[in-house]
Amino acid sequence: MAEQPEPDPGTRADLHPDRPHPARVYNYLLGGKDNFAADREAAERGLRANPDSRIPPRENRLFLGRAVRYLAEQGIDQFLDIGTGIPSAPHVHHIAQEINPRSRIVYVDNDPIVLLHARALLAGHPGGRTDYLEADLRDVDGILRSAVLNDTLDLNRPVGLLLIAILHFLGDEHDPWSIVERLMAALPSGSYLALSHLTGDFRPEAWEQVAEVYRRQGVTMRVRSRQQIERFFTGLDVVDPGLRILPAWRPDPGEPAGRATPSDAQVSVYGAVARKP
Ligand code: SAH
Repeated sequence: MAEQPEPDPGTRADLHPDRPHPARVYNYLLGGKDNFAADREAAERGLRANPDSRIPPRENRLFLGRAVRYLAEQGIDQFLDIGTGIPSAPHVHHIAQEINPRSRIVYVDNDPIVLLHARALLAGHPGGRTDYLEADLRDVDGILRSAVLNDTLDLNRPVGLLLIAILHFLGDEHDPWSIVERLMAALPSGSYLALSHLTGDFRPEAWEQVAEVYRRQGVTMRVRSRQQIERFFTGLDVVDPGLRILPAWRPDPGEPAGRATPSDAQVSVYGAVARKP
């Protein structure tokens, strides 16, 4: 990371401030400030199609926290977080390093805006290590062969692979199932997959409209059924309580104070954690 030049938002044409980007729309829906007018406009249009659009990102962050804590408690001290997004505290290293300060995390995203924030991702515990790789999930071999990944993680020891709210940005033509399979194949027995994914099972029309807002701006969004999402776990041992709408996955009664549990339809995101036998 140290040798990567400091990016200047003014000179990075690939930021495309005129087009909504998933990382920035997500940031806006979470109440963040790292977004442009086009992102806010797309988010507001999505909110008109589905007024509950802020609930999935919020529940997703809570699931991420519970899943990473669970993995760290199982002894996982290496994480590969693909589609990490604009940092939003607590991020993966905060959670993992609170349990094991020596935890190592490699963050991956393909959106240049995330690289601008990489310093916040890299300020981990000095006993551990975090690194950042700008790469596309579809380039599985590139990610697995990268020096960043191999310098930071030991692929001979179990890894927690995090694919949290990213796979719904891949169309079926990219065969996301084979991408997950190839990533898990590269990790040793005892590794875990934590995954969350938007579903249209409860409000198909509303989510189709949200997906259409994205599609018109050139962003793929593909909500999937429970059955399609279950397929990501083929060959893995899904841990209790299985694939659930997020608030039902190992709920933590303490989080966050005063939050009313939303309905399955409001959340519309499935999540699960599975172990590679
Ligand atoms: N995992 C985070 C952020 C989810 S938002 C969380 O759960 O809070 C989805 C993220 O995936 C965005 O940051 C977006 O830039 C990234 N993303 C989408 N498609 C991607 C791809 N093909 N390769 C890498 N990152 C991708």
